Amino acid sequence: MTTIFQKIINKEITAEFLHEDDICIGIMDIDPKAPFHALIIPKQLIARIGVAEESEKQILGHLLLTAKKIASEHDLNEGFRIVINNGPDGGETVPHLHVHLLGGRKLTWPPG
Ligand code: AMP
Repeated sequence: MTTIFQKIINKEITAEFLHEDDICIGIMDIDPKAPFHALIIPKQLIARIGVAEESEKQILGHLLLTAKKIASEHDLNEGFRIVINNGPDGGETVPHLHVHLLGGRKLTWPPG
């Protein structure tokens, strides 16, 4: 199955790109849950963090460092949150791993 994120990576559908390199893309979330809400998505399909493998750790680390870079480029100096939803109970709706980067307001804790 081709997910919406694979179509964005393949440029078959549009998105607001913040970042692209050989390993991942960074886009704005279409339905933001905070004033700033980006998604960092690996080009290689990993369905979810729960099935990620040891051999993919460089990709996983790159996603976090890219999230940090995007945060600093968008002045999230007061803080931000990185979220990965996994599986039905975790709130995952697209089966292609993605890191949520949220900021621009004080985020409550614990999340719902
Ligand atoms: P999750 O619920 O963790 O699987 O996150 C999926 C996210 O993808 C949600 O926050 C959606 O708003 C977002 N999303 C779905 N379709 C698009 C799209 N075409 N462009 C950007 N973000 C999208």
